[in-house]
Amino acid sequence: MIKTPSDFNKISKIEESDRQSLLLSLICPCGKQDFSILINTNNPNLSKKQELFDSLIKKYGGYSRCYIFSDNNCRVYINYKGIRGLFTKPKLIDSNIIPTETKIVKAKCLHCGKEFLLYDNRKHGVVKLERKLDYSNFTYKEITINKKVKIKLEYDITMNQYEQKYLFSNKNPYEECFSYIKIFYVQDNKEIIIFEDEM
Ligand SMILES: [Zn+2]
Repeated sequence: MIKTPSDFNKISKIEESDRQSLLLSLICPCGKQDFSILINTNNPNLSKKQELFDSLIKKYGGYSRCYIFSDNNCRVYINYKGIRGLFTKPKLIDSNIIPTETKIVKAKCLHCGKEFLLYDNRKHGVVKLERKLDYSNFTYKEITINKKVKIKLEYDITMNQYEQKYLFSNKNPYEECFSYIKIFYVQDNKEIIIFEDEM
């Protein structure tokens, strides 16, 4: 069975689970279930990351000679063509400079006012960061929900043959990473999606 990611341990209960998915409902440690959802509206560090990433790729011979991928522990590697035009052994790189758009979703309890991280694609997506994540300079839009907030997580992660050859491992490492998240509530038997992302 899938382990609940640590960010959800204290703020959710499992409603359904199987080998590939988890359905959670949000509950604040204060006991209430009324939340607003905060979604970031800007990406303050993106252009700086792009710059750092471009210079790394340049160091390894340019985009046409490089291949970037992550392993099943969500670490990011670069593989580049060496002098004979053959790919070298994958080299671990600092995933903090991957220039993907950052998506952050938080839940805020409408009773005690505490905020909880639900999703950060730098942490829960294919790129897991070892370093401390920077949350300064982000702005958020706030959506107030007056129904029970539910979260569906899916773990349907397949590796290509190349990655399996180099990085196959028997343990199930997807404790923090998932491949799909949907944050929603139900109204008149219909799912109303607040946020969803596929990695
Ligand atoms: Zn609360």
